[in-house]
Amino acid sequence: MAFDLVLSGATIVDPSLRKNEKGDIGIRNGKIAGISDRLDAGAHRTIDVTGKFLTPGWIDLHAHVYAGATTFGIKADALCLATGVTTIVDAGSPGWTNLRGFLEYIIEPSRTEVLTFVHISSIGLLNSMRGEMEDIKNAAPEHTARVISMWPQHCVGVKVRQGAFQVGNHGVEPLRRAVEAAEMADTRVMVHIDKGVALPSILDLLRPGDVVTHCYQGKGDHILGNDDRVIPEVYEARNRGVFFDLGHGAGSFHYGIAKRAVELGFLSDVISTDLHVYSLKSPVYSLPETASKLLNMGLEFEEIVRQTTVNPARVLNRTNDIGTLRTGSVADIAVFDLDDGDFNFTDAHGREESGRKMITPHLTVRKGDVYYPDDLKDEVEETERRAEEMVGITGVPYGTIREIRKVQ
Ligand SMILES: [Zn+2]
Repeated sequence: MAFDLVLSGATIVDPSLRKNEKGDIGIRNGKIAGISDRLDAGAHRTIDVTGKFLTPGWIDLHAHVYAGATTFGIKADALCLATGVTTIVDAGSPGWTNLRGFLEYIIEPSRTEVLTFVHISSIGLLNSMRGEMEDIKNAAPEHTARVISMWPQHCVGVKVRQGAFQVGNHGVEPLRRAVEAAEMADTRVMVHIDKGVALPSILDLLRPGDVVTHCYQGKGDHILGNDDRVIPEVYEARNRGVFFDLGHGAGSFHYGIAKRAVELGFLSDVISTDLHVYSLKSPVYSLPETASKLLNMGLEFEEIVRQTTVNPARVLNRTNDIGTLRTGSVADIAVFDLDDGDFNFTDAHGREESGRKMITPHLTVRKGDVYYPDDLKDEVEETERRAEEMVGITGVPYGTIREIRKVQ
């Protein structure tokens, strides 16, 4: 037999190959072994996916999956495989102190490929009720660089959060130290933008290849100026190669900002979830649901796929092996239905929008293995139960944590 598995008849959408047409895809030994309008050679197993949309496996560039060790972390493995996500990147849950545990307890046992940014805070993002950079002594460039250099196959950069809540009165000093660590380890920085630190002062420090996350956040110090246009510093950063990531989360996607940005032609480079304990059940749910919000705002499906496959692969410098269906690359594939109907969506500020389209996961192939959402239902329910448990322990859902912060 020429193939272990053939998926036949779907519309194949792969921006990395400039492909958007019906065809078959063949898999052998966990790798893509053939892609053509029709594969006639024999296969051990053929799955007919006529009428569906087949893309490279999706890459979620921003999530929090250090379950059991941080208040934010969700058990993400089954949820990923149930929703077309084959690579998930933790946006800095571990710091250098607890990175070894992340490698051993999260990365090693996961079926999904898990990567991570290492937080410039030595303790990582342990606790949602405290700002990790209020005490600048937590920022440790040399140690951070050292662990990234020890595990470069898993560690993809340095994370820092630059809102007043996280940094206290240290301004951009945490970012300065994150860039210092990234220089030492020859890697990139992902910076969370927020309220209380001027955006131009953040962008000023970023180098080509660095990532701004929460690009459509509306908490304050966002990408729009008083004239309701994208501020020039944002365009300057994009022009010199800084990436803009969506990072929805529980507080960082504002329909008003996103719609205005799309209207002005300022599209994110990457759509990501910022899935964590407080965003999982609402308003994020999954990467396909997050992407559906953008689809309903008028983005083409091909653009959605670009921002969930080849673009995050470019950010990670991995275009050779992920985010593509090129022959020889790892057999990570997502198959979706594009459903029509009446759907309701909510941003991170409680604003509701209705839409006519929903990207619904049909199956996921990870390293050649096939997963259907129904087969993962129990595991996904366990993920939700654990998230609710942590919400219960912290006492309040995320939105009200902000109120608590005010009185502290
Ligand atoms: Zn995050």
